[in-house]
Amino acid sequence: MEEQGFDAMPLSQDSFRKLWETVVTTSISNISTGTDGPREPWGTDGHMDMLLINDQVLTEGFDENLFELPPEMSTKDGVTPPASTVPVTTDYPGEYDFKLRFQQSGTAKSVTSTYSELINKLYCQLAKTSPVEVLVSKEPPAGAILRATAVYKKTEHVADVVRRCPHHQNEDLAEHRSHLIRVEGSQRAQYFEDPHTKRQSVTVPYEPPQLGSEMTTILLSFMCNSSCMGGMNRRPILTILTLETPEGLVLGRRCFEVRVCACPGRDRKTEEDNSTKTQNGTKQAKKRKSAPAPDTTSMKKSKSASSAEEEDKDVYVLHVRGRERYEMLKKINDGLDLVEKENKTKTKVSVKQEAPLPSSGKRLLQRGERSDSD
Ligand SMILES: [Zn+2]
Repeated sequence: MEEQGFDAMPLSQDSFRKLWETVVTTSISNISTGTDGPREPWGTDGHMDMLLINDQVLTEGFDENLFELPPEMSTKDGVTPPASTVPVTTDYPGEYDFKLRFQQSGTAKSVTSTYSELINKLYCQLAKTSPVEVLVSKEPPAGAILRATAVYKKTEHVADVVRRCPHHQNEDLAEHRSHLIRVEGSQRAQYFEDPHTKRQSVTVPYEPPQLGSEMTTILLSFMCNSSCMGGMNRRPILTILTLETPEGLVLGRRCFEVRVCACPGRDRKTEEDNSTKTQNGTKQAKKRKSAPAPDTTSMKKSKSASSAEEEDKDVYVLHVRGRERYEMLKKINDGLDLVEKENKTKTKVSVKQEAPLPSSGKRLLQRGERSDSD
């Protein structure tokens, strides 16, 4: 019995270790040969993720816009320059050094609109006014306009046009009731819907700052909550503000994220806290993300080594005469326990440094980062 058990144990231990190794090595070699050979496993993985995203974009976005719009454009009048299918969201100060500034409203509970410089994001309540200050370094050409356009932030949603949800549209009688963004306090606000892209925007004539002031203020309001079902539906949006010539030539562009919610102050604080945490916690995150690696190691180890331990799991009772001798032998035993423990952690570390586990850590980190930035 004992001999059988003794023989069977190392055997099972070997086979398990082999099994594990084959599992790990095949999965990695599959990944790296599946695409381009010489890449790092984690690199390929990231690459594959990217492809996946692109596939999504291809299926979601391009069906609508690439294959339908061009023929439509060619059949219609080619006078107006076709608006780009996906609005540009990069900041462009241009020769007028176009800039935006937001009032500092803090994060008090009662605040209805507040802007986070830290994450370039405006938090506001539904239909409440958000003042946006517009600054230029020199007077734009006569007839220049300011245009506000909303666009979904995430790649997978960017092809969809941002509109109000059906519920809020239905209870509104305004002509521009489908527009998410409104400009308040100006009779000269004009609402547009691009005939090709169906994207909506609102414009006001650019007005030079009043005497003694350095900026012009426009009042924006957002007419749906970010959570509105059938509308934004929790998809984050960006607002693009452009300074344009009367002909529609862009002179400057600025973008900021917008969240329309019940508690702007609270949400801003939460998201700012999270953002500083993730920034400070790049190390932390690494630690946290690589933590699962030792876990898998310990799993692997505990399986291979625990079978080794199982040989010695049996408890033997030693009868010792005399307290002193007992204490001495106990010390030796404790010392051996300690050495064994240390060896265990050492093997854990050395196993961790072998190949696959750090890469899995990196892979996790990449995914984490992506979802964070989302
Ligand atoms: Zn709504």
